[in-house]
Amino acid sequence: MPLRRRLLVGFVAVAAVLVVTNLALSGTFRSFLIDRVDRQLTEVASRPVFAGERGRGPGPPPGESQTLTEYFIAVGDRNATGFSRRSSAFADEDRPPPRLDHGEVLRHAARRGAPPRPFTAPAERGGSSWRLVAVSSPRGDQVTVVGTRLDEVDATLGRIRLVQLAAAAAVLVALGVVSWWMLRLGVHPLEDMARTADAIAGGDLSRRVDHPGEKTETGRLGKALNSMLGRIEEAFRAREASEARVRRFAADASHELRTPLTSIQGYTELWRAGGLQSEEKLSEAMRRMEQEARRMAALVEDLLLLARLDQNRPLDRTGVRLDELAADGVRDARAVDPERPIEASLEPVVVDGDEMQLRQVVANLITNARVHTPAGAAVRVSVGVKEVRARLEVADDGPGMDAATLAKVFDRFFRADPSRGRAAGGTGLGLAIVAAITEAHGGRAFAHSLLGRGSTFVVDLPLAAGDGRTRPPAPQRT
Ligand code: ADP
Repeated sequence: MPLRRRLLVGFVAVAAVLVVTNLALSGTFRSFLIDRVDRQLTEVASRPVFAGERGRGPGPPPGESQTLTEYFIAVGDRNATGFSRRSSAFADEDRPPPRLDHGEVLRHAARRGAPPRPFTAPAERGGSSWRLVAVSSPRGDQVTVVGTRLDEVDATLGRIRLVQLAAAAAVLVALGVVSWWMLRLGVHPLEDMARTADAIAGGDLSRRVDHPGEKTETGRLGKALNSMLGRIEEAFRAREASEARVRRFAADASHELRTPLTSIQGYTELWRAGGLQSEEKLSEAMRRMEQEARRMAALVEDLLLLARLDQNRPLDRTGVRLDELAADGVRDARAVDPERPIEASLEPVVVDGDEMQLRQVVANLITNARVHTPAGAAVRVSVGVKEVRARLEVADDGPGMDAATLAKVFDRFFRADPSRGRAAGGTGLGLAIVAAITEAHGGRAFAHSLLGRGSTFVVDLPLAAGDGRTRPPAPQRT
């Protein structure tokens, strides 16, 4: 059942309880007050003047009653139909005597010795009523009626009912205000949340719940819901971005693989069509096919490595001397490119990592510094410790890069000059692999460069746990 209906049912139930309690209370009060009047009347009626010998006419009871100040007395014959003698302590237009029904009086008349049975009768005129007690004479031929007006009782009851009504109205108004307040604070925000949830289910992930602060339960729920929605949206966007990245990666990889494949296919078709008759042409075609096949193999190797790194598998870590890997890289580069001035400044640094992968990082950076710079441009390789991290830097005096290129160099398949890059045998994955390996080792790869001033590629890695420099150096005393 919705909360709104439950509140309404509660409201109606409270109102019903109030009505029943008020009725019961006023009933109890009325019988209490009438009981008192009855006791007074019974007391008066049991006096000897009424219950005793005849001969004394009706009149005010001797020795005024303490409580009965307005009374009525009538005497009638049992067998006659009316009341012959009547007397009243008062008699005016405003306070008419009771309308006496002879039959009814006789029905209620107490036998001798029996307790009287008081009854209520209406006044002759107007809306007031009388309480009466009828007593039979000892001989049983006469009946005396003693009565008093119920005006005071009715007035008291009227006042009590008024107070009860006012109290019930106040309780209901308070209940109404509280219900409205609860609806406003509790139900309306919940309904709003339900609408927002529907909108989100419909695809609008940016929707958020309006909540009235954190002071109420619904407010806290709204806040929690909003932070959960924020997380979900974030995760959803991240998944979308990752899916888009995977799709682009697959498309780029297919495109990269298609180029050498098309080339190989072209040579085989040329050979089938008889276009490679001479030994010289055939061997040139074979050389080109081999070159393309090697390029494809390198590309597939790189793709496999990236795919493995994407899986976040645990690394095969050992203590690796980064400076020694860099020295090997420099040696290899000098062997391949003896003319190139390559400077090395290597400080012993140990990192925990996969040696093969770190070797590839060094090789990729030094190869780039050679391949993407003019022959003769100097290259500087350095390894050291900076801010309690191992740092490998490969700098060159090449052409450098503009800011837009610099922002993308670590992207997969990015080449500043695609035709030149491909011609040089690059896959466009070298720096993406550097970044992926570095991140897998808990490090960071970045570059700074200025057009015409060369580039510097930096790899920042955590020091091996055993390296004393993992903790910041103690502040030097001066
Ligand atoms: P590849 O070298 O196979 O093209 P990389 O990911 O290693 O792929 O490099 C991406 C691109 O970044 C290169 O194509 C080149 O345009 C640019 N680049 C990389 N290293 C340098 C460098 N040292 N100097 C200038 N440009 C560079």
